[in-house]
Amino acid sequence: MAFAPNIHSWVYLAEFQNGGTWKGSFQNKNPYTLADFAKLSQEEQRAVYTARNQFSELCLVSYTSQYALGVFEGLKAFPQADGSWTMFRPLDNCKRMQRSMAGILQPTMEPEALLEALLELMRHTIEQGVDIKYQSSWERDHFNNACAIYIRPFSYSEPGLGVNRSQTPWIIAVSTPVSGYFDSGKSTAMISDRVRAMPGGTGWIKCASNYVISMLARCEAREKGFMEAIFLDGKEQRYLEEGSGSNIFVLLKNGTLVTPELKDTILPGITRDSVIKLAKAEGTCVEERPVSISELLSDGAELFATGTAAGLVPIHGIDYKGSYYDISSQDEESLTVRLQTRLKGIQYGLLPDPYDWVVKI
Ligand SMILES: *Cc1c(COP(=O)(O)O)cnc(C)c1O
Repeated sequence: MAFAPNIHSWVYLAEFQNGGTWKGSFQNKNPYTLADFAKLSQEEQRAVYTARNQFSELCLVSYTSQYALGVFEGLKAFPQADGSWTMFRPLDNCKRMQRSMAGILQPTMEPEALLEALLELMRHTIEQGVDIKYQSSWERDHFNNACAIYIRPFSYSEPGLGVNRSQTPWIIAVSTPVSGYFDSGKSTAMISDRVRAMPGGTGWIKCASNYVISMLARCEAREKGFMEAIFLDGKEQRYLEEGSGSNIFVLLKNGTLVTPELKDTILPGITRDSVIKLAKAEGTCVEERPVSISELLSDGAELFATGTAAGLVPIHGIDYKGSYYDISSQDEESLTVRLQTRLKGIQYGLLPDPYDWVVKI
């Protein structure tokens, strides 16, 4: 069997009741102290993770498993130097989850209620004991190799087989430890000729079905030796849209930072929004507008992708129609590195947070 995701023992489950309310509860599935867990064999550890990943409340044959009728979120809890923990803009994730569920006609949970549940889930999880502590060594490479807790809330439908909307879904939230994301070395991307999202489609919400095409494009890029796939718009195949699960930014040689404007084929990333605000605050001109592949190739000075998983990921070169184009090397002075340092600094509590983005757990 493949490796089970190493989810923490505490999980949150809420079921939508026919009367119109959510009935939520927390479960501590196969709990172990860190010391006891470390004593288990690899096989036993795997069995624990597998057991935590099984929910007798949920039915296998459902609109979610058959037709990808489900949405998800991804956010992080960050360890702070003083031993406390924070989350980064979690209410924005909960609001997006509400929009995503509404976008596939599922009943929604109030963002404030979901946030309260996620905070409670993290309090339980941290109390149970997580294998992550703030390390000052993380500061040396701008937290590129720092650890955090990744929180994954998602919706799952009631049982069903015919194509239909989900009326009494579940919301489940689990978490896992995550470590640094960066493989050092140059990251490159391939411009995909696939179409991730079309006008009138679901590109603007975080739903499971969007990820099939992203996965195909990413695998094709990886097969050819590129780290990431970048999608162009579906109509003209001319304008940059997104990475496989990240937003993209181009710093032009004239110093303007450009990112595609939000529309129904673009996922409104919370990192994207944060980066726009941080760039403006340091005096960079930011434009949200269409940016074509030819503008990137002729005028691009830096290219980076943004998302919760990694923050800002510099992309040093792209493959377009079989030709490779270098995008200037990004050193310590680059805008990409400066913004990454600001963002991670706020998230890990090294820098002040003038935006009230950080929420104490
Ligand atoms: C989640 C996601 C992003 C990044 O959003 P963040 O809120 O910054 O994590 C970008 N694009 C797609 C398609 C996504 O699913």
